[in-house]
Amino acid sequence: QPVLGILGGGQLARMLALAAAPLGVNSLVVDSAADACAGQVAPLVKADWGDYATLEEFARKVDVVTFDFENVPAETAQWLAERVAVFPNPRALAVAQDRLAEKTLFRECGLHTPEFMAVDDRTGLDRALAAVGAPAILKTRRLGYDGKGQFRLKSLADADAAWAALGAQAAKHGLILEAFVPFQRELSVVAVRGRDGDFRTWPLTRNWHVDGVLSMSLAPAPQIDELQPRATALARTLAEHLDYVGVFALELFVKDGELLGNEMAPRVHNSGHWTIEGAHTSQFENHVRAVLGLPLGDTGARGQSAMFNWIGELPDPAPVLRGVDAHWHDYGKSARAGRKVGHATVCAPDAVQLAQRLEVLGRELNREAQVAPTVEALHG
Ligand code: ATP
Ligand code: MG
Ligand code: MG
Repeated sequence: QPVLGILGGGQLARMLALAAAPLGVNSLVVDSAADACAGQVAPLVKADWGDYATLEEFARKVDVVTFDFENVPAETAQWLAERVAVFPNPRALAVAQDRLAEKTLFRECGLHTPEFMAVDDRTGLDRALAAVGAPAILKTRRLGYDGKGQFRLKSLADADAAWAALGAQAAKHGLILEAFVPFQRELSVVAVRGRDGDFRTWPLTRNWHVDGVLSMSLAPAPQIDELQPRATALARTLAEHLDYVGVFALELFVKDGELLGNEMAPRVHNSGHWTIEGAHTSQFENHVRAVLGLPLGDTGARGQSAMFNWIGELPDPAPVLRGVDAHWHDYGKSARAGRKVGHATVCAPDAVQLAQRLEVLGRELNREAQVAPTVEALHG
């Protein structure tokens, strides 16, 4: 039986391992924490990214290596790639790790982005603000996730506060200033490319973030007839440029009918969790298929789906468990403020029925506010 090596042992690794099993694929996970939640469903090796003795042993036991976590150091990924097949390739990983390289690539591939400029020191911030304008967002180039490592500037007067918050990161991780985009919608396209170059996308997903963290996703996103072919073509161009193998997500802002690239995740993505029940083949299964060189599965949607994240702690599962075509996911993580600990997906044959199911569930879970924007979008 082939063995899939997964670097990082969070919920993405957990769901990858669960999707790999029916394909006859075993998983072996590496994480620096012995209690990482993927370890509840697959064997886990405890190692740091610089622990080459343990990684050497790991590389011998697996047929292919992939990522649950995009911030594995590029040199670790490269070192592993000299010993075993690694997908996506370390160059693609390196580009997606760095917001500056990523946005530069987007532009090369014809995907517009918010105005941006690298910031290396305090005077560089003033220069960038003059060029980019305000409002703007200062972000660390590396290692940010769930809105962490970001500071929003309303006006030029916020420069000192922004520097106080993130200046210390400038030397270590680099910073980037981006124009704040007053977008109408946030969408993502989750895509997969096989070892043979076969390329597919799931339908565009509409996403809602709260405090920089994904709160809900709706798929297929309503009103995407014109946007879908453009998003798919851009994702394909990026994938071919990087010789990408596996699943990735491209986060997009829609402003006045234009698509702007925010970032790409070189891995399965939270906005693709609905595909587990809402698509013919899930992002997790297709990622496993892609990195092992197996034929890819159908990425079409079954009806209409919505996913909501459980942040910090899980609600009572009973309303979801009782719901029609509603699905509960508990990642087996302990509760902690701001942490993604689970999600639920609700599917329905069409938008009208999905809106009804969400309204009922929103009330029963006492989550009307979380559900409301999705319901409104379905009615719209
Ligand atoms: P993720 O958890 O998706 O990796 P992250 O920490 O990498 O998040 P971003 O995706 O850069 O952060 O930003 C999080 C959210 O903040 C975005 O989804 C969007 O809602 C908002 N945001 C980020 N950049 C901008 C921008 N330039 N203009 C407007 N809103 C933005
Ligand atoms: Mg990100
Ligand atoms: Mg993001």
